[in-house]
Amino acid sequence: MARIETLPVRVGEDLIIGAGQPVVVQTMCNTHTSDVEATVAQTLELAAAGAQLVRITVPGRQDVPHVAEIKRRLRAAGCRVPLVADIHFSSETAIDVAPVVEKVRINPGNFHPDHEEARRQFAKFLSVCKEHGTAVRVGLNHGSLGRYITDRYGNTPHAMAMAAMEWLEMCIGASFFNVVVSLKASNTVVMVEAYRELARRMQERGVVFPLHLGVTEAGGGDSGRIKSCVGIASLLQEGIGDTIRVSLTEPPVNEIPVAQYIAEYGDGRRGSARPSAAPDPMLDAAILWGPKLLKREIDEIPAEAGLSEYLRDEIMQAARRRFYKPEYIACPGCGRTMYNLQETFEEVQRRTAHLKGLVIAVMGCIVNGPGEMADADWGYVGEGGGRVTIYHKSEPVLRHIPDSEAIDRLLELIETDKA
Ligand code: SF4
Repeated sequence: MARIETLPVRVGEDLIIGAGQPVVVQTMCNTHTSDVEATVAQTLELAAAGAQLVRITVPGRQDVPHVAEIKRRLRAAGCRVPLVADIHFSSETAIDVAPVVEKVRINPGNFHPDHEEARRQFAKFLSVCKEHGTAVRVGLNHGSLGRYITDRYGNTPHAMAMAAMEWLEMCIGASFFNVVVSLKASNTVVMVEAYRELARRMQERGVVFPLHLGVTEAGGGDSGRIKSCVGIASLLQEGIGDTIRVSLTEPPVNEIPVAQYIAEYGDGRRGSARPSAAPDPMLDAAILWGPKLLKREIDEIPAEAGLSEYLRDEIMQAARRRFYKPEYIACPGCGRTMYNLQETFEEVQRRTAHLKGLVIAVMGCIVNGPGEMADADWGYVGEGGGRVTIYHKSEPVLRHIPDSEAIDRLLELIETDKA
């Protein structure tokens, strides 16, 4: 299907997102931004692997000079990849960093608890971006929408689309059109419904901004890859999506080949022209069968498909049609991550594999983790300093536990709850 026509968004000198351009592949560093050397090295690695945009976290205003130095060193090394600053909560940091980078990702709803004040700060931020030619991603995640919107619409795909439309209306009102928008969720059904509704509403409005697609907190390994294929490919099949990120709880360079594979599928390059990678039967199966399950065109993957039982189960679960193991939510990690996320996530999966029916989250930081683990029954959230908080249904139930004990304590709590 032809892609939905969108506005072009220019990011830096060479990159256009939307307006019929090939799907852009992006990723995010998981280094600490204050560690300039490590962040430069990782960005170079990611750009060499094919990332067309690289995001780095900017936890506070004190990190803006680090971002400037990272950019200076990259350009000195001949690397032109545009940088995206990832901002949570602080409009001051967003405003400070906007002149430094090519793009800023924000959730304006989190700029201030008072909604009118958040709108004022967003207007100020847009004027700085306009002045410096900086692109913006309005990035709203399921689970971090803010009370002002969930009180009105619940924590639903509709609420996500309505929240995005409010900020996009402000961009239109300010004649600022260099905007990409995302509505990520770890639940593929929620994610697909939210993007579909937003695409429809923008078309009705007559101003269609490019869409950045992603299944957030998808986890890692086969499950993370399959979940990403199912969610992203479902939308690309409908002509929705202009840039993608595959979030994996693994080194970020691992995200690139998967994202390229899906992007080539979205552009119609796989199977017809010259794809860049050899066929991957697992990704092909997820891309073929996942969207059909998600859209309820079929109830089962037919036996004639010849898939192993494991792969069938994984695709069924990614499309949320049948659950054969616990559902895991794990963030990919970033410069805010407070511990060895990948190792911990793998250990949590090993020790909870028998708990079918539960949703278990493993999140890298206490700042955003609790908000972003949305529907999790249990959450393991790093506080920093070797301490962990355990959450039960969005409530912290044990705080400041040493990380050496945290998985044991989590399992005890789950067992007590089941008894
Ligand atoms: S939840 Fe994970 S990915 Fe999100 S900001 Fe925290 S550490 Fe980074």
